[in-house]
Amino acid sequence: MSQILDAIVVGSGPNGLAAALRFTRAGWGVLVLEAADEPGGGLRTQEVLEPGFRHDVCATVQALASLSPALSTLDLDLVTPPLPLAHPLDDGGAVVVQRSVSETARGLGEDTAAYRRLVEPLVRRAVPLFSEVLGPVIHLPRHPLLLARFGVLGLLPASRLVTLLFRGRRARALLAGFSAHSMLSLHEPGTAAFGLVMLISAHYGGWPFARGGSSSVADVLVRELVAQGGEVRCGERVIGLEGLPASRAVLLDLVPRDILGVAGRQLPRAYTRRLARYRYGPGIFKLDWTLDGPIPWRAEECRLAGTVHVGGDWEEIASAEHEVSRGRHPSRPFVLLTQPTLFDGSRAPEGRHVAWAYCHVPNGSRVDMTEAVERQIERFAPGFRDRVRARRAWSPEAVERHEPNCVGGDINGGRQDLRQLVARPMLRLNPYTTPNPRLFICSAATPPGGGVHGMCGWHAAGAVLSRAGIRDLSDERHGGTGGS
Ligand SMILES: Cc1cc2nc3c(=O)[nH]c(=O)nc-3n(C[C@H](O)[C@H](O)[C@H](O)COP(=O)(O)OP(=O)(O)OC[C@H]3O[C@@H](n4cnc5c(N)ncnc54)[C@H](O)[C@@H]3O)c2cc1C
Repeated sequence: MSQILDAIVVGSGPNGLAAALRFTRAGWGVLVLEAADEPGGGLRTQEVLEPGFRHDVCATVQALASLSPALSTLDLDLVTPPLPLAHPLDDGGAVVVQRSVSETARGLGEDTAAYRRLVEPLVRRAVPLFSEVLGPVIHLPRHPLLLARFGVLGLLPASRLVTLLFRGRRARALLAGFSAHSMLSLHEPGTAAFGLVMLISAHYGGWPFARGGSSSVADVLVRELVAQGGEVRCGERVIGLEGLPASRAVLLDLVPRDILGVAGRQLPRAYTRRLARYRYGPGIFKLDWTLDGPIPWRAEECRLAGTVHVGGDWEEIASAEHEVSRGRHPSRPFVLLTQPTLFDGSRAPEGRHVAWAYCHVPNGSRVDMTEAVERQIERFAPGFRDRVRARRAWSPEAVERHEPNCVGGDINGGRQDLRQLVARPMLRLNPYTTPNPRLFICSAATPPGGGVHGMCGWHAAGAVLSRAGIRDLSDERHGGTGGS
């Protein structure tokens, strides 16, 4: 590496690593500084309860691995469950998402035709659609009609989309679960887009897991960037820019609160004032379990699914999410659960299992939701608690302690309502840039926001390279990032 580094990336989450990888592919020297003892941010896997039981501390579902330009070229070892998702109902059955749209639609009774009409054209064109959806907010669309079709539906509140299209409880419940990934009230505009993005990715990619745990995704990213001359240093918390080695660019895989702490002095007052107005969304309350056997779901289909949405009908889920958006704790929370060891035996001793689940809670909540979450699971899987060997609860504060970007437990790196999807972290032609020409932002607090896709980092690196006048071929293949 030369005396003056090309780029320094602060933070090694999927976005920081994706940014660093794009630099090394363009022939730049890059140093990644990570505060934790291991790289990966939201991609860490640890034995948090018992030896031999590996839990993903944060992300498990690699929903966008095959659709994100930053990840899809990597040699990831993914395990795809037989069913991407199951959603149990109180009648003892379950509504499921299969890879095939028509098979899924067949399970939706009176809404079979409506589901096919809505989902089929979007799944058929998932790759071009996601090149738009994961692209920078301000860009010239390459598929304007497709994007318009998606946008007309997606801008609606999920509650409106459901009323317009579906009559039966099964399709309505399904859409409620997917749209609730927005962590917003389902009456908010734009929540339909979340539901559709999640649904399309489940059909297209099957919602796989990384074999052995999500840390293996971070390992692949680190291995590739080190092979190309990059360096990752862990245990190095950056508290200010002054002590950093000289570099042409510094990228921050941090949320606005911490950008202000680390780099506030190098940014103009008008910009920091706007950064301070950035809003965070609801938090999560997470539980990790080690289990003596698989979760005893009443509905057989749930035993074939990697992810299970627990919350019953549309009305219950919509009401729970609305309560959270009002700062309250629902007695029947909507629970998102993953059960990776059903399909990946390498994460636990033979015959034993791990699972995690979380529900949404008001930002920074201190309420213990263990009982409410487990009651919901027990409702659809009687005998669940008897299988629990050990549990660990993560309050929003504990989540933030392990993942500083999850302010108050917000796992999206900032509220993702329509306004803050566009103005992320603020309204600016190129949101990855700052008024300081050497300083850039690459975390989930930039578009396209939360989740493991690496595209915030990918676009941020693209902005740096384009400002340096470097023609980056990967940029052209994936639709451009917009100049600086
Ligand atoms: C419990 C949970 C479950 C989730 N499940 C999923 C899922 O199944 N699928 C999915 O797609 N997404 C999931 N997510 C969301 C996903 O993990 C995040 O959206 C994603 O990790 C954001 O990536 P990032 O690079 O922006 O930030 P992060 O992954 O948060 O990485 C930021 C990194 O910066 C480091 N850092 C912070 N401050 C400093 C500093 N001062 N100096 C040096 N380093 C610093 C941190 O230690 C961290 O490693 C989940 C999140 C949580 C918390």
